[in-house]
Amino acid sequence: MAVTPMMQQYFEIKDKYKDHILFYRLGDFYEMFYGDAETASRELELTLTGRDCGEGKRAPMCGVPFHAYEQYAGKLIEKGYKVAICEQVEDPALAKGIVKREVIRVITPGTLIESALLPETKNNYLCSVCLSKDSYAVSLCDITTPRIFCTEFSGPQKLTDLMSEISTYQPSEVIISPGHRDTASLSVFLRDRLRTSVLADDAVLFDAEGSRELAERQFGDVSSVLDYAQIISVCALLRYIKENEKKDISYINEISVYTGSQFLGIDINTRRNLELCEAMRTKSKKGTLLWVLDKTNTAAGARLLRNWIEHPLVSANPIKARQNAVKELFDGFVLRSELADVLSGVLDLERLTTRIIYGTANARDLRAVCSTLAAVPRIREIMADVGDSTLRELRDGLDDIAEVRDLISAAICDSPPVTVREGQMVSDGYDPDVDRLRSIMKDGKSWISKAEQKEKESTGIKNLRIGYNRVFGYYIEVSKSNIDMVPDRYIRKQTLTTGERYITDELKDMEATILGAKDKLYDLEYRIFCSVRDKAAENSARILKLASDLARIDVFVSLAEAASVNRYVCPEIDTSGVIDIREGRHPVVEQFMTDSVFVPNDTYLDTGANRLMLITGPNMAGKSTYMRQVALITVMAQIGSFVPADYARIGIVDRIFTRVGASDDLASGQSTFMLEMNEVAYILKNATPKSLIVYDEIGRGTSTYDGLSIARAVAEYTLGKKIGAKTLFATHYHELVSLEKDMEGAVNFNIAAKKKGDDIVFLRKIIRGSTDDSYGIEVAKLAGIPAEVIKRAKEVLATIESSVPDVNMSKDGAADSGLDVISLSEVSNDSIINQLRMTDLNSLTPIEALNLINDLKNQIIDS
Ligand code: ADP
Ligand code: MG
Repeated sequence: MAVTPMMQQYFEIKDKYKDHILFYRLGDFYEMFYGDAETASRELELTLTGRDCGEGKRAPMCGVPFHAYEQYAGKLIEKGYKVAICEQVEDPALAKGIVKREVIRVITPGTLIESALLPETKNNYLCSVCLSKDSYAVSLCDITTPRIFCTEFSGPQKLTDLMSEISTYQPSEVIISPGHRDTASLSVFLRDRLRTSVLADDAVLFDAEGSRELAERQFGDVSSVLDYAQIISVCALLRYIKENEKKDISYINEISVYTGSQFLGIDINTRRNLELCEAMRTKSKKGTLLWVLDKTNTAAGARLLRNWIEHPLVSANPIKARQNAVKELFDGFVLRSELADVLSGVLDLERLTTRIIYGTANARDLRAVCSTLAAVPRIREIMADVGDSTLRELRDGLDDIAEVRDLISAAICDSPPVTVREGQMVSDGYDPDVDRLRSIMKDGKSWISKAEQKEKESTGIKNLRIGYNRVFGYYIEVSKSNIDMVPDRYIRKQTLTTGERYITDELKDMEATILGAKDKLYDLEYRIFCSVRDKAAENSARILKLASDLARIDVFVSLAEAASVNRYVCPEIDTSGVIDIREGRHPVVEQFMTDSVFVPNDTYLDTGANRLMLITGPNMAGKSTYMRQVALITVMAQIGSFVPADYARIGIVDRIFTRVGASDDLASGQSTFMLEMNEVAYILKNATPKSLIVYDEIGRGTSTYDGLSIARAVAEYTLGKKIGAKTLFATHYHELVSLEKDMEGAVNFNIAAKKKGDDIVFLRKIIRGSTDDSYGIEVAKLAGIPAEVIKRAKEVLATIESSVPDVNMSKDGAADSGLDVISLSEVSNDSIINQLRMTDLNSLTPIEALNLINDLKNQIIDS
């Protein structure tokens, strides 16, 4: 015996969607069977039932109501599954035999269009990577916008560069060309570090055949824009979107190819350290630069601002253009607040348009588009007198798409329902047929009550009543006591304990007209709605252009507002290589200062005598804060934002690097020291004379002498001819202050603290010169270490200080001998004694003890 025809159909479809959870439409439910049912019941906490599927067997089954599928599908996507939606594609009433079903859409993390599942203030990126022999091309798209971004990396660092670039966008899904030697390591990185869904085994997506034609259909002539690897990666993206959405995707018609050098280079670690958009510990927005700058009024504006912060610029003119727009809004309080006011009523045109294009928009969505279009003339009016050329251009380009606006406003009523199949969408007076059908339905009610009156009179049954139910339609109900008065023309339909229900021919005629009108009306309203939606879809490119213009205005307003609220100034931008900041502040830390004030500080870095600031000072003095502040002010300036300072001149930098000696990398499982050295290596290999580098206490993860030597050598190399970048170098190794006299370009600074008896007062002011006191014991006291321990620590310190030899750090003309500048021969045997003295026996393992002895012995042999 064979399986039932329906299950037969199910198997045929499921066979094509093996990796997906198949939502199979049956009546008002999406049902899942077998493995899918087991997975879904576990993940969604649904009850597992069964269904007879022929052969006397029962298939495990569970289901979700069709109208609530978004929520269930969303949960599955979040847990890493992909969902295929299988619909009935013909009317069951007209079907011969089994109703035809098809998968109408596949939902994956990168191809979501359900607004409930999309993060509002963040773009949801789908990414594709083509790994070829010489280069790695990457394409990215948020499918609620018409643009694909594409870039490419080559050279020995291409994998690291690619990872860094992808992490800027935090895509929710990445497809990778299979079979390359780096496919696996990239997949692992994306899954583990970025928690991204990865597809790396679909060669068909990356097929070269037909790719050029596909790209050209979508974007026009691409021969001068895209190279081979880029075309393949763009096409993989297009194919994947098309395959999942199963709709026309011609709206994706912009291609934006950029090179790394168009944006400020910020590698993945620096991005985390600077907390641009995500706080390191909480992973949230609070406490980030984005959090401080985000005064946007629209979701699309918030997404664009995030984009700008992720991608600061590197050419002076576009930065200045942004600054000028911000400046005018900064100065114009009324202009800014009026714009903010109107913008707060602007809805998310990008997401609405996507739903219009994919045919999932309802009448409410159309009204939302209409109300936003209606705000456009007002925005133009508010901006009537703007002087800045960027703002003028934006204003003149604002397109209120009058024909779409007028059509929606005329055709669709003010507050339509969520569903599109139950009428009440079309405005009264818009369509004569709609009006006529509506009046029949309305009159229907009064016909019925008139008929009831008439029947009461003709039969003399006073409590006779006309009712309605789904099974019999309209009926006449007569109570038991009056049954003998019922006339012959009544046809009995149902017996109740309390009486009888009847129908009459007249009643049935009336019913046919009324119910017929309802069906016809709903059908007609749906068709009118669809035609309006289609008209909007035809204009989607214009709507999306408007969306992007409004988002830009919103971001300018937001930057101006943030600058005004936080007392920022407009930095001077040039290519001098000078960073000159007076009374600079840390944009985020200052927001958290409630009971004290943030102490501002100056900075001067250039490409010559002031290349490297060597910063010493006790723990907690404010070294890390100060260095980050300089990096953040630079980032802000290159975004086009104002900056927290009294004055700033920022010579554009090409890359920013930070290495923060943090202990928070324990989670990644690598040894902290190894990780630290990895990052330092990356900086040394990639920094240029135009870069800005922040080293925060490097060398911490290893023994004192190792750490000190490495720190010294790294500082020298960074200062030297091969790099010569602007550098902020905080260190707890006081020995390094001799660098100032040893090498040109290094300048000593310290963050002042004062001893007050046994206590310490942090002044938070950065001043020239070095400190020779690390105040470690005072800080320990501040932290609540018992007095007895503090006292003993001082005794120990006194003994150590009296016996430590002065380690000569100067290079003695060893300037060109590469990294090996510290001669250990100068470390006398006293140092061995000292090392022993500093060794904490309680924390040594036997192996470490052995190693230590071995080390010491080697030192004796060497010297
Ligand atoms: P360090 O790196 O020298 O150990 P941090 O930069 O971590 O010190 O600063 C320690 C604390 O001091 C920070 O949490 C911050 O609250 C405060 N702080 C730092 N700089 C300033 C400043 N300029 N004004 C006021 N408070 C500051
Ligand atoms: Mg610090």
